[in-house]
Amino acid sequence: MARNIGPACKLCRREGMKLFLKGKKCITEKCLFNKRNFFPGQHGQTTTRRRKLSNYGMQLREKQKVKRIYGILERQFSNYFKKAARSKGITGQILLQLLERRIDNVIFRGCFAISRKGARQLVAHGRVLINGHRVDIPSCLVKEKDEIEIIKKANIVKKVKDMYEEIKDRGVPSWLGVDIKNLKIQILRLPQREDIQIPIQEQLIIELYSK
Ligand code: ZN
Repeated sequence: MARNIGPACKLCRREGMKLFLKGKKCITEKCLFNKRNFFPGQHGQTTTRRRKLSNYGMQLREKQKVKRIYGILERQFSNYFKKAARSKGITGQILLQLLERRIDNVIFRGCFAISRKGARQLVAHGRVLINGHRVDIPSCLVKEKDEIEIIKKANIVKKVKDMYEEIKDRGVPSWLGVDIKNLKIQILRLPQREDIQIPIQEQLIIELYSK
């Protein structure tokens, strides 16, 4: 049974796709999405539909899911929401765009790290430059035309290049330009809604905060 598999891949199973919260597990057979492709819980095997949740329950679950995927806490998440709500445009889309613009997410999306958690470590340990300046805050937001770079320390260069080879089949979204030889990621444009393939119903989150 799945005794020593953490909650991360339960979420993969529930959402019916690999979310790479625990990167290594998701690229192996251990990801519960391949292992037990039915809904979690005692009756998952016999239940064809997920339990019907109340509106509030669905909204809450969606918010928790997004927080979990991007690895952020409530206060920071609600700040993203406020920032999105103040901005011009569709709040839900701007919220997702802000999350995608985090430097830890960019490094993960560029296939330089196996998970966002791994990417956060690279940033926190001072291995990442934006436009030549070191950043050590994983929530730092990138802008169009920014150039992200991993510092050229021998052991890090090898680690990141090996990682890239291992996971590049995931694909790099088209708003990023990866130069693996030089360990660089160019922000070609800001991410749009269609660039975000994770099944997120951001409208539910907006409804939750609009109460
Ligand atoms: Zn998984």
